[in-house]
Amino acid sequence: MNKVKSLTLFALAILAPFLLAGCTSTPPRAEAGLRLYVLDCGSIEVLDVSVFHPGIDQGKRKLLTDSCYLIVHPKGTLLWDAGLPDALANTPEGVLWFDTFRLKVSKPLGPQLQQIGYPAETIQYLGISHLHGDHIGNVNLLPKATLLMQAEEYAAGFGAEPGKYGFDPSGYASLRGNPVQQLQGDYDVFGDGSVIIKRTPGHTPGHQALFVKLRHSGNILLSGDLVHFTDNWTHKRVPGFNFDKEQSVKTMHEMEQFLKDNRATLWIQHDLEQNAGIKRAPAYYD
Ligand SMILES: [Zn+2]
Repeated sequence: MNKVKSLTLFALAILAPFLLAGCTSTPPRAEAGLRLYVLDCGSIEVLDVSVFHPGIDQGKRKLLTDSCYLIVHPKGTLLWDAGLPDALANTPEGVLWFDTFRLKVSKPLGPQLQQIGYPAETIQYLGISHLHGDHIGNVNLLPKATLLMQAEEYAAGFGAEPGKYGFDPSGYASLRGNPVQQLQGDYDVFGDGSVIIKRTPGHTPGHQALFVKLRHSGNILLSGDLVHFTDNWTHKRVPGFNFDKEQSVKTMHEMEQFLKDNRATLWIQHDLEQNAGIKRAPAYYD
């Protein structure tokens, strides 16, 4: 009996360091890794979808989503795109835009960020794919965040002729007060290769997309408006209102190769059908 007891004690003494080590290393602290939250930033009913591929499906309607994303990294937080303005939630029937798009917001962004524990004013970086109205709606909620934007986009947005690119500066006036980092191409946000802004010009002069490398969920490229829905991606079709159509097609092919090289999945921010299969905050990808 005594022999058994002492053997048990011996075994425990040997195993104790390993058991303790196991306790300290698992489970990892939630903050230790990279997280991607998908936020609902409204919807866009397109009254004539042919504006996205001239000559095809004239007069047909199509519903698009408007998505925003929060990246939580051990070194900081980044909001990717700021969606349609939260104020639209006060007009449930929606608002008509350029006579072609009916814009609606049912879940304002501010409260969504609050709910997951990252109030807008605490977010460090603001990454905007481009300055169109459906991507900048809530930039005023982040007046202190450092804006990460391609130099060409900044010049177009704050230059003499913003209207030429489809920009309305009254929607992003608050950005003038934000600290700004003007980018000259791809940019590694946290310096470890896990979150990279990709320069993807064409839709607008300094359009950009966001590449995120997640440990469990894999590599994902958030499209911005590189493309608006799957059919256009398959056929490499370009909207009639893109700034540079040739460049748009070239960038799409480059990104297709980039996705292959990096075994990455393209998440098309406006694609309703694809987004139906993507979980929303407070759930997250890591
Ligand atoms: Zn858009």
